[in-house]
Amino acid sequence: MSAQPNRILSPFSEDKLALLARLTEGLDTDSLYWLSGYVAGVAASSRHVPLSAAVAANLAVPLPASVAPAAEAQVSTRLTIVYGSQTGNAKRQAEALAREAEGAGLNVRLVRADTYATRELAGERLLYVVISTQGDGDPPDDARGFVEFLAGKRAPKLPQLKFAVLGLGDSSYPQFCAIGTKIDARLAELGATRLFARGEADLDIASVAAPWSKQALDQARELLKSDSPAPRAATVTPLRSAVHVHASAWTREKPFTAPLLANQRISARDGGKDIRHVELSLESSGLSYHPGDALGVVATNPPSLVDALLALLKFDGERAVSLQAESHSLREWLLRKREITTLSKPFLVEHAKRAKSEALDRALLPEGRDVLRELLGDYQLIDVLRAFPADWSADEFVAALRPLAPRMYSIASSQKAVGDEVHLTVAVLDYEKFGTRHVGAASQFLATLPEDAGVPVFIEENDRFRLPADTSRDVIMIGPGTGVAPFRGFIQERAETSASGRNWLFFGNPHFRTDFLYQVEWQKALKDGTLHKLDLAFSRDQSEKVYVQHSLRRRGKELYDWIANGAHVYVCGDATRMAADVDAALRDIVIEHGGKSDEDARDFLNQLAAERRYARDVY
Ligand code: NAP
Repeated sequence: MSAQPNRILSPFSEDKLALLARLTEGLDTDSLYWLSGYVAGVAASSRHVPLSAAVAANLAVPLPASVAPAAEAQVSTRLTIVYGSQTGNAKRQAEALAREAEGAGLNVRLVRADTYATRELAGERLLYVVISTQGDGDPPDDARGFVEFLAGKRAPKLPQLKFAVLGLGDSSYPQFCAIGTKIDARLAELGATRLFARGEADLDIASVAAPWSKQALDQARELLKSDSPAPRAATVTPLRSAVHVHASAWTREKPFTAPLLANQRISARDGGKDIRHVELSLESSGLSYHPGDALGVVATNPPSLVDALLALLKFDGERAVSLQAESHSLREWLLRKREITTLSKPFLVEHAKRAKSEALDRALLPEGRDVLRELLGDYQLIDVLRAFPADWSADEFVAALRPLAPRMYSIASSQKAVGDEVHLTVAVLDYEKFGTRHVGAASQFLATLPEDAGVPVFIEENDRFRLPADTSRDVIMIGPGTGVAPFRGFIQERAETSASGRNWLFFGNPHFRTDFLYQVEWQKALKDGTLHKLDLAFSRDQSEKVYVQHSLRRRGKELYDWIANGAHVYVCGDATRMAADVDAALRDIVIEHGGKSDEDARDFLNQLAAERRYARDVY
């Protein structure tokens, strides 16, 4: 079969056409159909805008019925996995499940929530949703439209659907796994049949996700086995290409020890916050990253806090503790294996059983929600142990604490500019409360590193937070506090790639004099033309608070013009208040300067997000 693409109507350059001709040369019909299905799957999983009429009308190879994505024959024998993921964890779980299902010969498609065509929901027979919850009960950005659609009036009745939900979250937040819970309840309300109970995975994701996934796979096998599974080649979603395998050998399980190159305070010494610029060497690691990625730091807990816990609970640190085939001294568990600076609801539940405190018991009842929120927000583990004394055995104590999770820092450099280095912007958490000093695990670890130290690290890719491939696009960056970190990398990258698009940065912090992070760099960038606009909001330099969203509103008209002309908008920083306030400001700007209704403005921003032109990296 000859599959010569039409030179005039195809969207390809001469080079790509030649490549295509070489690729398809000599392939038999089956192989060509397989290839067309594969490419259709790639398009389906990455497409944000409808196919142009010219391209649709002139597809070089028409899609055969056996690989058409929504073919009715496939739906009843197909498992659909929809995921919504902010930091990549839900995506990883969904991908792993999809790979296993594919390996088991099932017809599976894996779809990111913002590329899922919700009109297909009414036709689904078997659906698994894997979704995380952000901050105060918000969906991940890539699932906002999906969650809104499901909750709304337009969601169809789903009597034909069987489903299960895996929620991911962080139990130190009161709204733990709220989005998973909401979707689970809503699908049932729409008449779908819940196959098995919702999973609620905490930071130690695998302990819940692994049994949930096993059950999901068993059920899918059972339900789809009587129908003849579609041949492997007909699987529309290209699972292997969706699962990006990082070339490096260094992972969260096996981090690279990166030598410390610099650890410099960039906030004034007499200011309130201690903000560090940290530089690490990646030389000979083979690690590479893109602007927008995060660096995972595998920290050691503060030794002084471990000593304080041991003393308070009257534990012997050298005593061996075994848990799930792992054995270490109690001190080692607390130093390197367990969360001891944060607090989780499951720990509080266990502690309440031992503390016999009415106040604590009340906080765990539904009506004690506000007290629980305060406890989880303000208290560290040691504060709870002091406020509500209880007897613990060492083994039970270790078992009740969550595994120590690596901390993710947005990378503040571009590898094109700094070579084998990676830079971070770190706010050192160190404050007095309840009469004692409190520190954060990773920031304290980084801040107190000796000069010749090494830091165990790995790269956490973040494909949702990427500069536009088209370097002529303008970019708007909103990053108060240490949220400015990735934008230092963005601006370095735009300079290195000689991007012709303009760069506009919104930054805010308490005081101009003490907290103007990277001031000299921004001023130089403004001068040499790699930064075009800089808007500042120093919140405490005047009697009324001034935040980045005030600057956004003030510049609303110009901002809207940039967006209407194709600019990409990025937000990084605090998820609980700032991200929501900035989102509201952007919506108001679209209403006022775009002449849209509230609902249309929401749709406009959702559409921007779906097109990856409004990306947020917030937690
Ligand atoms: P911060 O606490 O976010 O404060 C920065 C500035 O924002 C201050 O001037 C603060 O003003 C102001 N602010 C307070 N409430 C605000 C609101 N509702 N809207 C807009 N601005 C507001 O700075 P930070 O200590 O550097 O912390 C940065 C936050 O970003 C942390 O929560 C950190 O975890 C997060 N972060 C996330 C990422 C990521 O997700 N990749 C990366 C870096 C940082 P006042 O204090 O005067 O009220």
